[in-house]
Parts: sequence; C-alpha cells; structure tokens
Amino acid sequence: MRKLKWGEHMKCALEIKKLMGHAKDGKIGKIHVQAGDLVQAGTVICTIESSKGSAKLLSDYDGKVLDITVSEGDTVKIGDQIGVVESDAKAPQNKTPQNKATKKPAAGYSFGLAKPKKMEICAEVAVVGGGPGGYVAAIRAAQLGKKVVLIEEDQLGGTCLNYGCIPTKALAHTSEVLNQISASAALGIQVGEAKLEIENIMARKSEVVQTLVGGVEHLMEVNEIELIRGTAKAISKNTLSVKTSKVDATVKFKKMILATGSEPVIIPIPGADLEGVITSRELLEIDRIPKKMAIIGGGVIGMEFAFIFASFGTQVTVVEFQNDILSMLEPEAVEVILESARESGIEIHTGAAAKRVVNTTDGTLILEFEKAGEIQYVSCERVLLATGRKPRLDSIDLEKLDVCLNASKKGVEVNGFMQTSNPDVYAIGDLTNIIQLAHVASHQGMVASEHICGIEHEMSYDAVPSAIFTHPEIGSVGMTEACARAQGIPCETGLFPFAANGKALAMDETKGFVKLVRNSETGVLIGGTIIGPRATDMLSTLVHLMDEKVVLKEALHTIYAHPTASEGIHEALLALEGRMIHFG
Ligand code: FAD
Repeated sequence: MRKLKWGEHMKCALEIKKLMGHAKDGKIGKIHVQAGDLVQAGTVICTIESSKGSAKLLSDYDGKVLDITVSEGDTVKIGDQIGVVESDAKAPQNKTPQNKATKKPAAGYSFGLAKPKKMEICAEVAVVGGGPGGYVAAIRAAQLGKKVVLIEEDQLGGTCLNYGCIPTKALAHTSEVLNQISASAALGIQVGEAKLEIENIMARKSEVVQTLVGGVEHLMEVNEIELIRGTAKAISKNTLSVKTSKVDATVKFKKMILATGSEPVIIPIPGADLEGVITSRELLEIDRIPKKMAIIGGGVIGMEFAFIFASFGTQVTVVEFQNDILSMLEPEAVEVILESARESGIEIHTGAAAKRVVNTTDGTLILEFEKAGEIQYVSCERVLLATGRKPRLDSIDLEKLDVCLNASKKGVEVNGFMQTSNPDVYAIGDLTNIIQLAHVASHQGMVASEHICGIEHEMSYDAVPSAIFTHPEIGSVGMTEACARAQGIPCETGLFPFAANGKALAMDETKGFVKLVRNSETGVLIGGTIIGPRATDMLSTLVHLMDEKVVLKEALHTIYAHPTASEGIHEALLALEGRMIHFG
C-alpha cells in the first residue's frame, strides 16, 4: 500500500484514526467510493473489519475523491492513509505544505473553513432519536423499502447502549465474577485477595459500549439509512430542521417516528445539585470506587447499582420512599433480595423520605432522611439519585407537530400502532412513558414502522418481560399473584425452590425459586417470576407460554434437559397440579 504525501493545500489525506475498540489493525471491508466520486464530510469511504468489530472510515471533507490506495481485504493499521480527497476547504494560510508533510493533522482536523453543509432532504420516514426504539424502527422501515433518515444528537444506541442497560450489565458481570471469586473457597479453590482495577473495569465497559455503538453505525450503513448528527427541531407539521457547525439540514418527511427517550428525574430536595450527588450516568463514568455511597431509590436501577458497588467494597445504604424495595415484584422475591442484600452488607431503609443533602467541610456528604417520624443521617462520598426517569417531552416542539400528551401529561399519547394525535407522527419508547424498557421501545419501533408500511400488528403489553440484574438476578413477566387477586382474577400458584434443583446445587447458587400464577378458569399463565441462577435467560420460556396462551396442563409434556436450572420451570408447572417430583 502506497503512503500518500501531503501536498498542495487542497489535497486532504484520508487517514485511519480509530478502529473498533482498542484494535490496532484490521482489514479493509467494503469500499464505498472510487476516484472521481464527490463526497461530503461524513460520507462513508470504507469499512474496516477488526477483531473488535466493524468501523467506518468517514471523510472529514467535502470534495472529490482523487485516489483510493487500498483494495478490499488489505491489512491496515491506525495512522495509515488510504486515499486522498481534493477538498473544497482551504488549508490555514500559516501552515506550509512542508509543515503538513512533517506534521500530520490531528484527528478531526478540518482545515478551518468548513461551512455547515446545506442539505434539503425528503424522507419517506424520518426517525428522531437513535436509541433502541429509534434505530430499530429505522432498520425495520428500511427493510420494508422506505427511504429513511435518522437524526441523533449524541451517540447511536441512546441511553440503553451508552448510559444504561449495556454499561450497567458490563459492570454487573465484573461484580458477578468478583462474587464467584469470593465464593471460590467453598468450591475448593483457594485464590488470593481479588484486587479491583477501576481503570480497567471502566475501560472494558467502554469497549463493550463502543463495539455495540459501532455495530449500530454499521447497521445504519448496510440498511442505507441516512444518518444526520444533530438536534432535530420541528419547524412545521411535516418539516424538521437540524443545525450544527457541520450541517444545516431541512428534512421534509411523509411520516415521522419520535423516539427521543427519557432523562433522570432529579428530586427537588435541597442539596440535589451538590457535586457528589450524581445520576446513573455519572456513576458509570467514575474513576474511583467510593468508600460509602447512599442511593436514593430502591427500584431496579438503584438496586442493581447497590449490588454492583457492594461487591466492589463500597458501603451502600439504600433509602426508599415506599414500604418495599422493588415493590412491583412478588413479595417472596423481595424477601430473597433483602436477605442477599443483608449478606452483602447493603443497608436498606424503606418507608424513608430523603430530605436533603449537605456538604461537610471535609467534602463528605450527609444525606438526611425521615423514617417513621425520626430524622436519620448517612454520611457518604456519593449520593446516587435513582428516582426514576421522565420522558424528554421538550427536546422537539411537539405543539408544532400537533402531537398531544397523554391524560397524565407525562408522556406522548399514542394508539396501539404508536400513532400520535397527528396520524403522520408516531411516538415510541420511553417518550410514551408506557413501559420504560429497551425491548419495549424496540418492539414499539417495529410496530410503528410496520404500520407506516401497511402492516397492522397492534402493540400488546400483556407479556412484557423484565430482567433485573441484582444478586441473584430476577426475571418476571405479567402479573403478581396479589395483582391478579386485586383485579378479581381467579388464580392459583405453583412455586419450586432452586434449593431442590440439581444444577443450582452444583453451581452453589440455591437462593431463589420459580413462581407461576395461573388463571384457574382458563388454565393459562398470567404471571411468572424466576429469581436465581440464570433467571433472566430462562425468562423467555415463561414469556412464550404466556404470549401464546398455552394451557399449562399441556406444557407439562415438554421435556426439560437435565441437569439445568430450567427444570425449575417444569417443576413449578407440576406444582400447579400438586405433583412436584423433586420437592414435597
Ligand atoms: P433512548 O435510549 O433514551 O434514546 C433516545 C435518543 O434520542 C437519545 O440517543 C437522544 O440523544 C436522542 N434525542 C433526543 N432528542 C433528540 C432530538 N431532538 N434530536 C436528535 N436526537 C434526539 N432497559 C432494559 O430493558 N433493560 C435494562 O437492563 C435497562 N437498564 C437500564 C439501566 C440504566 C442505568 C438506565 C438509565 C436505563 C436502563 N434501561 C434498561 C432503560 C432503557 O435504557 C430505556 O428504556 C431505553 O433506552 C429507551 O429507549 P428509547 O429509544 O425510547 O430512548
């Protein structure tokens, strides 16, 4: 491969500045341009495949491709120059060509005079927001043959990939391995004391995130979805505008899907704005493990972080306003979590209202809370606000789009096909505030895109699974027993404890159970909870039984592999008939 020389002012090298993850080299994949093609800043020149995934090389310049000096399959590394673009922009006058030859431009070097690129785009479908709702909707619409534009102001993947599900689960995995190391003596393995390297923990977490974000970028490309980076603003019922230092785009659309997501709720207590009072987003970027942390909120996000940081050695205190943590779960599951939390040294205060946070002279924070009429205090380095998330209703002008809010004014109103009060505009994901889960957002996205393309598949929320990565982990779907009874649904339950499951015993993870709730009139599953080893992976069996309204007596004939934790599901099905084999 020939190295390019930096020559005249207008010739700009296409240089490999970054590969996926920390990969140092890779192979040229698809080359999208050839000599003579006109390109814009952001045009994909080629993909580069490495062991860490697929990355795209984008042009930094508007201009004409003069030369591409590599072929598909060539091995390349960071710093290689693979072609040259004759740019419309001029090099800064104080830099001579010789300077350039000796000193390569830094990543993102723009030659200083680039003007925002004016673009007039007509889209059949415009999607605003590239989270798990928006990017899945965009792919589905493109699969169905639509010309799709996706506008994202931050990273593709949204909250889920960048600041939510994925980074937390990367940390939860580190925590799980750590717990296994701590428990290894019981398995006959003596290891020295585990030493945490927060820098490496965070680097791995970021690498997982970057690999997935790169994967979504690649999917945009292969599905020929036009990606515009910037904040979309509505200027009329069928036009959006995106203005940044790089683009000045007007997007006219036939249909639009709004997927602008949500943001953390900051509870209005004095001190909530102090420096050490943080949300999950900042906690996922810390460079030092706090010795003590208070968590306001004992819901899913609060409890996942409580277990992660307790395993990292942080002294964790959870302050929850309601009378239970994880109050949407079966009470037996909450009991298991409370016991595990006690063993992990997590202190939990329920029925406790956070009142204020104050800063002491030595930088320690004091969280004040009221419980049963008494004021109590926790001193800590960090206070995590895990008090819920609210839809981003103001990131785009909904009024200009004729889009109405729901009755509680806390989400966008939609019908079963995700259509808003403006039939040309759909809303999906956290923005609708129906169920704030990534897989719900993605499913709603598919429903919306299919409806736009004439396929009527209405959204149903009867069998939405929920995975919680505490220790042990929890999977649940449908109603709890109490909820069914409160609704007057005749029901019966079957419960099988993992203490009687061979695989759980072999893994030394016997905490937890499978509990099934059956409608005693129809015989179908209306709710299920699995808490224990691999619970979140086993959950889909229950979701299928529920979604397909299988009469559970018929499911008894399914053979479950031995020895697996999933035999617990079979036993819970047998329990509904009063005929468990391995527990009596
Ligand atoms: P988002 O993912 O929030 O994406 C919205 C996107 O829109 C963002 O990228 C934003 O930059 C962009 N945007 C907003 N306004 C504009 C605009 N005007 N122009 C251009 N772009 C715009 N869910 C699970 O299912 N499982 C989990 O384990 C899980 N764990 C979580 C852990 C944490 C710590 C958090 C915070 C959340 C977690 N969630 C989990 C919830 C999940 O992340 C969200 O439900 C999901 O991301 C919602 O997807 P969305 O597409 O609706 O919105």
